[in-house]
Amino acid sequence: MEMSEDKKEKAVNDCIFCKIVKGDIDTEIIQESDNFIAFLDANPKTKGHTLIVPKKHYENILDIPSSLASEMMDNIKDLARERLDEGSEGFNLAMNNFEVAGQVVKHAHTHLIPRRKDDGFSLAV
Ligand code: AMP
Repeated sequence: MEMSEDKKEKAVNDCIFCKIVKGDIDTEIIQESDNFIAFLDANPKTKGHTLIVPKKHYENILDIPSSLASEMMDNIKDLARERLDEGSEGFNLAMNNFEVAGQVVKHAHTHLIPRRKDDGFSLAV
């Protein structure tokens, strides 16, 4: 169902990630391009846990145009390679879509979770 323009505006105004994009909230920014921003998760599952976020407010993966989703994957791959170069041994990618799947922030984002042996984290799927 399409959201009304008023509701869309309210969603953007209330959105914590839109505030980060605008620079109204401080975060540790890892990478920024025209269309994306990547910053450290405030509650990291492992060291270097990063969120990759489109600057424009989309609620979930289904709303992101395919060309932008492809650019997002290129960004994620670049960041993942950087983490591996820095000593991570692997990584998990996770994207929660809709509340029932654990999405808390209603602005689409991908979690990049660097992994090391014995880091104590488990992503059971
Ligand atoms: P989720 O919507 O469940 O996929 O996850 C939202 C993620 O955003 C959580 O892992 C939070 O720790 C993270 N988060 C929420 N607010 C901030 C913030 N201001 N800066 C960095 N990370 C945040």
